[in-house]
Amino acid sequence: MRAAVIIGFDKPVEIQEVPVPEPEPFQVLVRIEASGLCHTDIHAAHGDWPVKPSLPFIPGHEGVGVIEKVGSAVTDRAVGERVALPWLGYACGTCEYCVSGRETLCESQQNTGYALNGGHAEHAVAHAAYVVPVPDGVISAEAAPLTCAGVTTYKAVKVSGLRPSERAAIFGIGGLGHLALQYARIFGGRTIAVDVTEDKLQLARDLGAAHTINAAATDPVAEIQALGGADVAIVLAASPRVLEQAHASLRRGGRLVLVSLPKDNAMSLPIFQTVLGGISVIGSIVGTRADLAEVFQLHAEGRTKVIYETRKLEEINRSFDDVLAGTVPARLVFEL
Ligand code: ZN
Ligand code: ZN
Repeated sequence: MRAAVIIGFDKPVEIQEVPVPEPEPFQVLVRIEASGLCHTDIHAAHGDWPVKPSLPFIPGHEGVGVIEKVGSAVTDRAVGERVALPWLGYACGTCEYCVSGRETLCESQQNTGYALNGGHAEHAVAHAAYVVPVPDGVISAEAAPLTCAGVTTYKAVKVSGLRPSERAAIFGIGGLGHLALQYARIFGGRTIAVDVTEDKLQLARDLGAAHTINAAATDPVAEIQALGGADVAIVLAASPRVLEQAHASLRRGGRLVLVSLPKDNAMSLPIFQTVLGGISVIGSIVGTRADLAEVFQLHAEGRTKVIYETRKLEEINRSFDDVLAGTVPARLVFEL
C-alpha cells in the first residue's frame, strides 16, 4: 500500500510502498478513503513535542474509511462499516478517567498517527473499540476534518460552559476555528471571530459570526472589551501572545479555553485579574468517542459546514508548507 512515512524529524515526508498491516485480535483493518491534515501531524513529523514518536511512522489522525477485515476477537464492528480513526487510538478502558467518561485523559492512551501508525496511507489498522462509525449522511472527505478539528472544538465549546446569549470569542479562524465558531453558535453564543487575515474573517462572516476583528489591524482586546468583554474565549492560534490577549479580552466570570499547543510552552497569567475577575483557565484535549458521534450527528443533520480542499497524498510536503504559511482555505484532506 502507499503510505506517507516520516523517516526523520528533519527530512521530507516520503511516499513509500509498504506492506498492508494485519489486524491483531481486537483490531480492524480500514481501507482509508480520506485523511485530514492536522497541524499536529506537522509537529509529529518535525519532532516538536517533548515526547517524540518513534521512527519511522505514518502520521494522520483524521482517517476515514471502510472496514475491510476484523480481528478474531472483534464483535462490535463489521466488514463494510465506514469508520473514523481519531487521535485517541487506544485507552485502557478501566482506569478512573476511562470509566468516568474522561477517556481522553487516560494515562495509558495511545495516539493515532503518533504512537500508532495513522491515516495518511491506503490502509490502517485500529483498535476496534476506538473507531467511531460515520453516519451515511456524512461524506468521508467531510468526516475527516470532523474527526479531529470538529470534535476538538466541539469539546472546547462544551467545557467552556457557554450559555445562550453569552459572548464567545474565537481566536484563529482556520481548520479548527471555523468549526469552533459554528459550535459556539449552535450552543447559542454570540460569536466574535478574531484572525489576522481578511479572507479568514470573511469566512467567519459567511459562517454567521456576529463580529469579526482583524488583530493585525486593530487591538482585539480593546475591541472585545468595547463590546462588553467575552464570557468565553477559545484559543486555536498556536501562540502564547494570543492566549494572553484572549485572557485580557474576558469579562468577569469569563472562561479561557486553551486548545492549541504552541512550541513555546509558557504563557504569562496575570494573577490579580484572574482572581478578582473569577476567571477560569481550562485546558481541553480532543474529545471522546461519544463527543465525535455527536459531531457526526450534527453534521448529518446539516447543522455544520466543513471548509476544505482535497489533495493527493503525494502532495503532502507542499501541503505541510501551505498549512505552515496559513494559505489553505481551512482544512486539507488527502483523498486515497
Ligand atoms: Zn488534530
Ligand atoms: Zn484509562
